[in-house]
Amino acid sequence: MTRSISILGATGSVGEQTLDLIRRNRNEWQVEALTANCSVAKLAQMAREFGAKLAVVGDEACLPELREALAGSGIEAAGGRAALCEAASRPVDITVAAIVGCAGLGPVMAAIERGGTVALANKEALVSAGEVMTAAVARHGATLLPVDSEHNAIFQCLQGHRLSDVARITLTASGGPFRTWTQAQLDAATPEQAVAHPNWDMGAKISVDSATMMNKGLEYIEAHHLFPVGLDRLKIVVHPQSVIHSMVEYRDRSTLAQLGPSDMRVPIASCLAWPARMDTPMETLDLPAIGELSFFAPDEDRFPATRLAREAIEAGGAAPAILNAANEIAVSAFLGGQISFTRIAALVEDTVSRYTAAAPGTLAEVLEIDREARVRAEAMLENA
Ligand code: NAD
Ligand code: MG
Repeated sequence: MTRSISILGATGSVGEQTLDLIRRNRNEWQVEALTANCSVAKLAQMAREFGAKLAVVGDEACLPELREALAGSGIEAAGGRAALCEAASRPVDITVAAIVGCAGLGPVMAAIERGGTVALANKEALVSAGEVMTAAVARHGATLLPVDSEHNAIFQCLQGHRLSDVARITLTASGGPFRTWTQAQLDAATPEQAVAHPNWDMGAKISVDSATMMNKGLEYIEAHHLFPVGLDRLKIVVHPQSVIHSMVEYRDRSTLAQLGPSDMRVPIASCLAWPARMDTPMETLDLPAIGELSFFAPDEDRFPATRLAREAIEAGGAAPAILNAANEIAVSAFLGGQISFTRIAALVEDTVSRYTAAAPGTLAEVLEIDREARVRAEAMLENA
């Protein structure tokens, strides 16, 4: 029996790895919609290869080029924000949400409102919307499967257990490419150095987030919403080998961990096949070759991002959405050579401390907070 799938952000790192798994099991899947922002050639090639019914570009200006690239294929082409949401709301067995940033929030909510199964990689959407998203999941009877490797690990370790029996959830962090760098070295870190992650091959934005540790900060907030055990039971430990993807300790002091290669195809496969299992092309885990696993406490003096994220989720309301928006602005300014590496966290801290808003109750309110926070963060960039 074939299953149908739509992939939002198909041309990105997670999207491509999802399609790699589909390609290996081609006759088991029917691809409905594939989306991108403006990578027309890549999107059109993917849509043709996988026989998608619909291809969508988020940037409407790229639609004529997409139409041309798909001419004669019979594949429907569409463009713009509303078209992304329309694609996300088409009925499928599973939607993979792999757009980067809060730009993915509208489409994710559209998939949730359909009551479907959503494999969520797009952590910024959940960080920004928080309870607005988790309430929509409950209201529409949707199923959220975490793709993020840590949350996928926790999800697996929780199967068959009660959240009320959990004593502690520990998110592991690789520490990123600058884990051992001094403050002076961090001040001079370049975008090229930041996107070269030691363990994972990822998109530019999440690579910078890994280097600042904001990725772990966003994941801390993500974990709080997915697994509501209370912030005092949610910890972060630095584990440079990225072999243990996260752990759950129960009240009897038994700890369950999920291990695997640092390849996103493992957690993606776990979501695609859930609750069953499927093959992946990875080698089996060779523990003697890995040799040793090590663990360190996070250093929030050199990497303040996890502290900022914890403070934002403790403050609640609009704070996580503001933190996320400011971080998106700061990361693109850093990638564009406009600010230094250590200014990223400073800009986020400044934005969160100077802009407060009432807790959002609807998607429109979340999007308005996100928009306003971007304006404020941009203004601080100009004045820096
Ligand atoms: P990426 O930059 O490689 O790909 C992003 C995708 O989103 C592309 O298809 C791009 O066209 C699309 N996109 C970008 N901006 C858009 C916009 N404004 N409107 C519509 N589409 C847009 O990113 P990635 O590394 O694949 O990450 C995707 C998401 O998954 C992020 O939220 C990231 O945090 C999360 N994630 C990624 C990894 C990883 O290994 N790459 C691991 C865990 C979680
Ligand atoms: Mg992760």
